[in-house]
Amino acid sequence: MVLQVDVVIIGAGAAGLFCAANAAKKGRSVLVLDHANKAGKKILMSGGGRCNFTNYYIEPSRYLSRNPHFCKSALSRYTQWDFIGLVDAHGIPWHEKKDGQLFCNNKAVDILNMLLQECDTNGAEVRLNTKITSIEALENGGKARYQVSTEEDDIRCESVVIATGGPSIPTLGATGYGYDIAKQFGLKVYPPVAGLVPFVITDQTKSLVETLSGTALPVQVQCGEQSFSEDMLFTHRGLSGPAILQISSYWSPGSKLHIDLLPTMRAGEALRQQQHERPKLKLRTWLAEQTTQKFAEVWLSGLREAELTLAELDGQAMDVIASRLHDWEVKPSGTEGYRTAEVALGGVDTDELSSKTMESKSHPGLFFIGEVVDVTGHLGGFNFQWAWASAWAAAEYV
Ligand code: FAD
Repeated sequence: MVLQVDVVIIGAGAAGLFCAANAAKKGRSVLVLDHANKAGKKILMSGGGRCNFTNYYIEPSRYLSRNPHFCKSALSRYTQWDFIGLVDAHGIPWHEKKDGQLFCNNKAVDILNMLLQECDTNGAEVRLNTKITSIEALENGGKARYQVSTEEDDIRCESVVIATGGPSIPTLGATGYGYDIAKQFGLKVYPPVAGLVPFVITDQTKSLVETLSGTALPVQVQCGEQSFSEDMLFTHRGLSGPAILQISSYWSPGSKLHIDLLPTMRAGEALRQQQHERPKLKLRTWLAEQTTQKFAEVWLSGLREAELTLAELDGQAMDVIASRLHDWEVKPSGTEGYRTAEVALGGVDTDELSSKTMESKSHPGLFFIGEVVDVTGHLGGFNFQWAWASAWAAAEYV
């Protein structure tokens, strides 16, 4: 059957649903298509099931992109305060967890239901279990500029919005389809790379990390010029936790991490002071007080100094221990990849798109929003805010 609508949106995730609701509110007839059997699967998984839907401190500097200016316009026109207002209007209870990160009090499904309700109220139709077979530009379609074909129908429309996200977590229906469509229309795509992802360690550090599996510590981790101060978690296969996920987006294969395991003190000075005040204290006990019992045992195992009292340590030994704790050098062998990555870095080159509308500069009526675009946020609600803001920008013009 041949159908006609104003706007077809591919992808019923965060960006697609929000764009659909807002375009329909403006009076456009909107059809959202998704191959999955459920809308918004990543929303349901997000924030440990509570959806970290935005952040109080949205700043362009919290986004990675080949063009760091691209995200500014959309983020300033649809802000975190706008989205908080919508969440409040739907009576969804939420709270700030830390550092401006806003989570649902109950479940992430509250956000998904809100988006579906907004689509429904404004008359946007969402069709699931729908395989897209092709998207073609129409030469002589009149008002219709594109034809989207599915296994059931050919749908002619004025605008197509690609909101298919990135390839992370394929078991949730994630694909690189948006990149394929961009390439089909001749748009440049930066190869996707897993971001916000744990590291795998296979070198001589492996057994230490493995033994410490389950231990979490507040650290400062640095890679190149970038650093983050948050918690780090030792895992069976390597390193994870917020500090590690954040830095993973700045890591490239072969580079080293520099991890300060005691970021809130100067260990050399602290040891000298304690040597004076508590000379009989063992080094192992001192380190356990600063970190955890297990960490102190594993970190100092095999070291003669572990069983010495602080009085027995000379200044040089203290300096060596302090510098190892303040600059633990780790060379990951890789990341866990898309199996567990929260996002994909890279995507459609922002130079191909209008920062005001998200429309392709070379193909009027073709829009890209959300994660498929080369804009990736830090951990903490920044990625959803990009989904909402880019969707809003496109909805104004589709
Ligand atoms: P998505 O939400 O991924 O939606 C894409 C949609 O397109 C999906 O429904 C998919 O089925 C559909 N699709 C894909 N390929 C096709 C195809 N070929 N045909 C038809 N449909 C297709 N960000 C935060 O800000 N806060 C968080 O708390 C947070 N937690 C996360 C937790 C996890 C486990 C993961 C994986 C991600 C998390 N993120 C979080 C990141 C956030 O989920 C994404 O940045 C966001 O969902 C991107 O929105 P999107 O609409 O662009 O893509």
